[in-house]
Amino acid sequence: MDQVISVAINYPLYQTFKYLVPNSLGKVSIGGRVLVPFGKKTIVGIVIKKEKYVSKDKIDYKLKSAINLIDDYGLVSTEIMKICTWASDYYEYPIGQVLFGALPSQIKQGIALSNIKIFKSEYKELSKNELKINLNHEQKMVFRDISKNIDTFSTSLIHGVTGSGKTEVYINLAKEVTSKNKQVLIIVPEINLTPQTITRFEMYIDKRIQSYHSGHTTKDKVTTWINARDGKLDIIIGTRSSIFLPFKSLGLIIIDEEHDASLKQQEKFKYHARDLSIMRAKNLNIPIVIGSATPSFESLHNVSLEKFKKYNLTKRYHKVDLPKITLVDLNKDLPEHGISKYLKDAIIKNLDNNKQSLLYIGRRGYSHALTCLECGWISRCKICESFMTYHKNQKILKCHHCGNYQSVSINPGTCDKCNLVPVGFGTQRIEDKIKELFPRARVLRIDSDAISSLKKLEDFIDKAKNNQVDILVGTQMIVKGHDFPSVTLVGIINIDSGLYNLDFRGLEKTAQLITQVAGRSGRKNEKGQVIIQTRRPEHPLLNTLLTDGYEKFALENLNERKKANLPPYSHLSLLKMSSIKKSTTFKFLEELKGCYSEQKSIFLLGPAEAPLSKKNNMFVHQLIIGSKNRTMLRKITKEIRQYIIQKKPYNMKWSIDVDPVDLY
Ligand code: ADP
Ligand code: ZN
Repeated sequence: MDQVISVAINYPLYQTFKYLVPNSLGKVSIGGRVLVPFGKKTIVGIVIKKEKYVSKDKIDYKLKSAINLIDDYGLVSTEIMKICTWASDYYEYPIGQVLFGALPSQIKQGIALSNIKIFKSEYKELSKNELKINLNHEQKMVFRDISKNIDTFSTSLIHGVTGSGKTEVYINLAKEVTSKNKQVLIIVPEINLTPQTITRFEMYIDKRIQSYHSGHTTKDKVTTWINARDGKLDIIIGTRSSIFLPFKSLGLIIIDEEHDASLKQQEKFKYHARDLSIMRAKNLNIPIVIGSATPSFESLHNVSLEKFKKYNLTKRYHKVDLPKITLVDLNKDLPEHGISKYLKDAIIKNLDNNKQSLLYIGRRGYSHALTCLECGWISRCKICESFMTYHKNQKILKCHHCGNYQSVSINPGTCDKCNLVPVGFGTQRIEDKIKELFPRARVLRIDSDAISSLKKLEDFIDKAKNNQVDILVGTQMIVKGHDFPSVTLVGIINIDSGLYNLDFRGLEKTAQLITQVAGRSGRKNEKGQVIIQTRRPEHPLLNTLLTDGYEKFALENLNERKKANLPPYSHLSLLKMSSIKKSTTFKFLEELKGCYSEQKSIFLLGPAEAPLSKKNNMFVHQLIIGSKNRTMLRKITKEIRQYIIQKKPYNMKWSIDVDPVDLY
């Protein structure tokens, strides 16, 4: 008898395909790869279901035969199959692409495992001289309580102020789990954070520790994939995609900086690594620990629903008080090229005392845009309609959305000779100004233009740590989790765009940013100072945050969200559609919305122009689908996805984002 199987393939298609496996090919295994004809091509597929057996005379003549079974066992384990199937369904993304996305490229290509050369892992030789950590009282309490239930599923949220030593708690938990020969997965939001995290774990745990992120070569990635699967690695520290790695016996998942938006993939398959990790931990019946100094509102809400258990680390390990925060009213203290007198004086004082200062600016490049004071010309991207950032060093204007760039012409506007001035501030402009104001200071800029590799970032951070720098200027890149022991002054150049963001998460993100940036100040020896420049010093958010702290602020804001029926009190999916002609997508979305006018259990917002209303020459519209009821939202989101596929809208692109983190 021959067997019929269902196969998932690596195409943007929602259906799976049936093939016949002649008896002669051998035993079929779910999760095994199979070579199949597809159109005129031969491609690799993954068996996701065994259908019925058929006898030769009953075979549907249209059913094509598989060519070869690549694996005689489930290369994609039952466990990975389960999480991928769930994710495909939850995020409305094709199962084939989810499954193939979880595999290293050699395996995707169908190379037999026995033909894949495994390289030596880069982890250091085990040395048997690990240091012992002495946890302080608070750390001990958290560690003990979590380790009491280390063999079953539970979600613990560690809310620890910056510098409280969350990492040391993670290390102790990992030690406990690996001592029982189980594996640990630690997810950090940025590649940049992997080296320092590895270093800290290696100091205290004498186990095979390996990083996993997009910076590794394909050979290294497949090696890690195989070694993790075979139980030849004990600890993996990786970015969000490591949630799809196979493990021989995973015993614990840790998510650091769980509030960070980078844990959500924004392109194509829009999954959230924290949420998937919780699912995976649940499937495996193992604990998951998530941590942050500024927990996401979603997680705090889950604490109040008693889905997560919350632990607090309220004190900094090095017993340094949290920094003093001062608001500078830019309406009164008029800034000179972005820097108020108050901030300037504080920097001078710090320089005099040989202390380090750090200045945070939300944007790289020189300025937000260039404009002509005479004719009003402003630099816009022809492809996206967004502003083009001025990069002074290269003398170019660059669109940070599509990468389009052009050189700055002398006369872009309608004047005889344009009087061009920069609008807004980027890191380069602040760097220039700082160098001009303090010619003898050693200034170092850290942003994605200055940092081309992990190695370079490490060099820069070492420089800062070894006191070879007086003033650090940078973007998010210096904020996220890095420890600069000598920084005692932090300046936030401008917070206002975050206070008046259209996105309902604008305030949450701004509060997280302020708290995280502030946390870079005075970490080791002495109390630091934070100066926030703003034109809105009376803003209620700033005041609650500064007087009552992050948690109080969060609870107040959660109350507002509840009244407005916004997440986490409701759930959203975001549908985006784009086309060359502006009216087509709008009309399509209006029609779609019309189909649901009777539906009371959901709400539809839009259609409206997307915040980036034109991207790569396509006009983008969006429709927000929301409901208090998660099951209902999933049902309608699926229906809408099926509606679009069935209508096959001509020349239109679309995407669905379930639980979007950026709405506007
Ligand atoms: P967080 O991640 O919570 O901001 P860290 O884990 O970076 O804090 O800890 C802050 C500092 O305190 C680090 O320099 C760390 O090495 C130190 N530290 C924290 N806990 C301990 C401990 N138990 N023993 C020694 N050093 C510790
Ligand atoms: Zn553009």
